[in-house]
Order: sequence, then C-alpha cells, then structure tokens
Amino acid sequence: MADAADTAASYDEARIHLRAGGRDRQVAVPVPLGPRSLLDLLPPARVIAQALAALAAEAAAEQGQAVACRPGCAACCRQYASISVVEAEALARLIARLPPPKRDAVCERFDAALLRLEGAGLLDPRAPRGTRRITLPPRHTPAATAAATSSTP
Ligand code: SF4
Repeated sequence: MADAADTAASYDEARIHLRAGGRDRQVAVPVPLGPRSLLDLLPPARVIAQALAALAAEAAAEQGQAVACRPGCAACCRQYASISVVEAEALARLIARLPPPKRDAVCERFDAALLRLEGAGLLDPRAPRGTRRITLPPRHTPAATAAATSSTP
C-alpha cells in the first residue's frame, strides 16, 4: 500500500537468498532508502513472506498436498487472527483512505467485532467496557503527510 510519502521516496533493490524446506530462492526486495518508519518496511517484509509461502506451497505440492488458501476464501476473517502493531497501523491507514460511506461501514463492523470480543472475555478486562473504538489516523493530505514526516525521529 503506497501513500504519497512512499511514491516520492527512493528505493534500492536488495537481493536476498532464502532457503526453506530444502529449497533455495533469490528474491528481489524493494528497500526504501533514508530514515524510514517500521511501516515503510512492511512492503519489503511482505515480499519476503510471500516468497517463503511460495516455497512452502511448492514443498507441499511435491508431497502431494495442497494449500487450502484460494481466491474468495475468507476463513481468516471469521476467526481471531493476531496481527502486529505495524500491520494494524497499515490497516488503519488503509481504512482512513476509504470514501466516507465505506469507511464508516468498515468502522461500524470493527466496533461490532470489538464488542463481541469484549463480550467473549477476549480483551483486557481492566479496560472500560463498551468504549473501545477503532482509531483512524488523519487522512493523508499533503499537509498531514508533511507533518507526520517532520515528526518522525
Ligand atoms: S482467508 Fe485465510 S485461509 Fe482463506 S485464503 Fe486467506 S489466508 Fe488462506
């Protein structure tokens, strides 16, 4: 997911040798140059993760097994799947860029999911009940991007 700051950034290419399941693979990974945030490293991390997943799928296929993942599947949308803070931040930025009606609908679904998780006792019981909401970053206007960039350590 590229935003205005990403498209203006310069990149170099790292060639990484992966070995998994007895297989080797060279992967070209775009690496953003200069002082960057963890969020900027998410796309390169995804390239590496996808290459490793492909290696694992090939190894499974060689043993006559198939990976269940396929287009149209939403199994992971219906279970409690953990993501990192950086992935959550990227997701929140993606939602913030949606057109308002769609963004509001997605936020309502997140809020409803939070209430269900809370009701099931899966969230921190010390936090006030019924008050959790998804928090979106400000939309990425040029001014907001400049402010965010200048505050990056
Ligand atoms: S939703 Fe989960 S199980 Fe389904 S294809 Fe995606 S990753 Fe695989």
